[in-house]
Amino acid sequence: MTHDPTAAPGGAVEPNFTDAQRAAISALSHDEAVIPAPVWLARQAYLANDNVERAHAAQDPEGFWREKAKLVEWMRPFDKVCEIHPPDHRWFLGGKLNATVNCIDRHVASERRLKAALIWVGEDGEEHTFTYNRLYRETNRFANALKKLGVEKGDRVVIYMPLTPEGIITMLACARIGAIHSVVFAGMGAQALRSRIVDSGAKVVVCSDYTFRRGKKLPLKPTVDEAVRALYTVEHVIVHRRGSRPGDAPVTFESEREHDFYDVQDGRSIHCVPEPMDAEDPLFILYTSGTTGKPKGVVHATGGYLVGTSYLARAFFQISDRDIYWSTSDIGWIVGHSFIVYGPLSVGATVFCREGVPDYPTPAVTWELCERFGVDLMFTAPTAVRMWMSHGAEVPAGYDLHKLRLIACAGEPLNPEAHHWAQEHLVGQSGGMVVDNWWQTEIAGPVLGTLPTFEARPGKVGKPLPGADVAVVDAHGAPVEAGKGGLLVIRRPLPYMLRTVWGDHERYRHYWRQFEGFYAAGDIAVRDADGYFAVLGRADDVMNVAGHRIGTADVEGSLLRHPAVAESAVIGLPDPVKGERIKAFVVVRAGVPRGPGLVGSLKDHVRQDLGPIATPSEVEIRDSLPKTRSGKIVRRYLKAVELGEDPGDLSTLAD
Ligand code: AMP
Repeated sequence: MTHDPTAAPGGAVEPNFTDAQRAAISALSHDEAVIPAPVWLARQAYLANDNVERAHAAQDPEGFWREKAKLVEWMRPFDKVCEIHPPDHRWFLGGKLNATVNCIDRHVASERRLKAALIWVGEDGEEHTFTYNRLYRETNRFANALKKLGVEKGDRVVIYMPLTPEGIITMLACARIGAIHSVVFAGMGAQALRSRIVDSGAKVVVCSDYTFRRGKKLPLKPTVDEAVRALYTVEHVIVHRRGSRPGDAPVTFESEREHDFYDVQDGRSIHCVPEPMDAEDPLFILYTSGTTGKPKGVVHATGGYLVGTSYLARAFFQISDRDIYWSTSDIGWIVGHSFIVYGPLSVGATVFCREGVPDYPTPAVTWELCERFGVDLMFTAPTAVRMWMSHGAEVPAGYDLHKLRLIACAGEPLNPEAHHWAQEHLVGQSGGMVVDNWWQTEIAGPVLGTLPTFEARPGKVGKPLPGADVAVVDAHGAPVEAGKGGLLVIRRPLPYMLRTVWGDHERYRHYWRQFEGFYAAGDIAVRDADGYFAVLGRADDVMNVAGHRIGTADVEGSLLRHPAVAESAVIGLPDPVKGERIKAFVVVRAGVPRGPGLVGSLKDHVRQDLGPIATPSEVEIRDSLPKTRSGKIVRRYLKAVELGEDPGDLSTLAD
């Protein structure tokens, strides 16, 4: 399909919306209770005038990014800002840099040397502080250990670790020597982990023995054992043993491939020369769900990624080297890469992080920690806000949150009720602001968002950030008029956008194929007359469960690996806290008894295979699935029936 920029907006061809999506779009046109930007916050905002910045970026994109590239320390200056031939785009050509020099060395060489870079708190209250100086030592020592094991520039290292300082140090150690890290969320199952190790061709896996969740010690090592058993391409498995508690059986090593995280560092130097990376060399691969069951290895390039995240940490998240900043995300997600690790550390901030869920051991734990550490800025997900809301406003009211001036939310639509609640009860004490922002694994920082210099319109994400050329288009790629729903596209590559899909450039081209020359984000959006965008959800078969992207194809594929299953279909249904929950429909093989253990066994299988986040909350056993004449399963039909909408006539559905 090609776009026609001259097409009359009135003649827009509406994409295939469901009734619920149409209702959500029309609800956005009603008057909204806007939230003005607090004057005091606007006065100290990094961008004094976002309109001027946006206009500068629009008129002279190259000049704009040349200027932003000064935020980064280069080992060799770049010769050219960019070369853009969509879908391909290259940035800061000829430039050499190392991400860890930006995130560590330049602070160690300044008055920030003994400042806290990381403050980490475990679920059980264990606490550790890492100064920039300590981060330098520990990163370099582990980088040297990796080198000693034969890891070289360009090699892939899979990291299967929870949000711990050692997880962050492992990421940075890879970046130090030019190895490409690929963090797999330490809640994913063995099949999900194995497919990522295989696809990336990783020769080293670094894991932790346990993670902690809601008071339970969850073993990770057996999942790694199962994932790597038949993979002879994996040369080393390095295990961070988190220390056993009384009564625990310590993790012992049986395989000659296995090493202890600290043993491999024995005798290694605390200095490691940073590898000069070409601006276009990959910094990391991060897998995400697509519409096929095969994980998609999103590749981010060192230079553009660092310039983008370093700029946005300041310009969007307002992070400075005087702030204590907390992101409740995890290193397993893009937010963790960009705005737990690289963005805030490049600024020289103090990153506060905590392993565990934000309402355990008590619903007050988040606010107690904010008060105790004096957290200034927070980045969280709408699902967390809704969860805090369910515990009541009296919980945050019991703590001193006067320092907490900004809460940024992303990952899924921030519903107006949650937005207003957070504005009143979480940043009410400081008179600060709650801001929404939209981006994806593929685009490593905010593209749309509300800045503390203009009013927030709950239900809408905000405006394009400087440098981002975003539009809402119809099914033919023509821009739609204000207030009309369409598909979200980015019309000009950004330096912090993916360069390719690992090992599958053809798959990368798909992003740009639906509308030639434009990047199709896969989301349904609406723009209002003042340029505010609302993002309503995915236009494809991808679900968003508690801010996590899960492909229906991934869950269907997992169910099909269960011996009882003949066919499966998976849909996302609205959920008041998680945004969406997963429902699966399954046809069992002939002769399989539909006993009471069947549904439990199916859920257990998906949990083992993909992990708890991808486990269906409901499984319905059926005799058949609705299909088109050519045999394609019609998930839309199943969803419409579940939502009480008119599913239409199956026999007339086109293939
Ligand atoms: P992920 O790549 O896992 O971060 O998921 C990205 C997807 O999450 C986007 O394509 C959107 O569907 C959704 N998303 C992220 N941020 C927002 C937001 N602020 N509002 C609405 N949807 C969002």
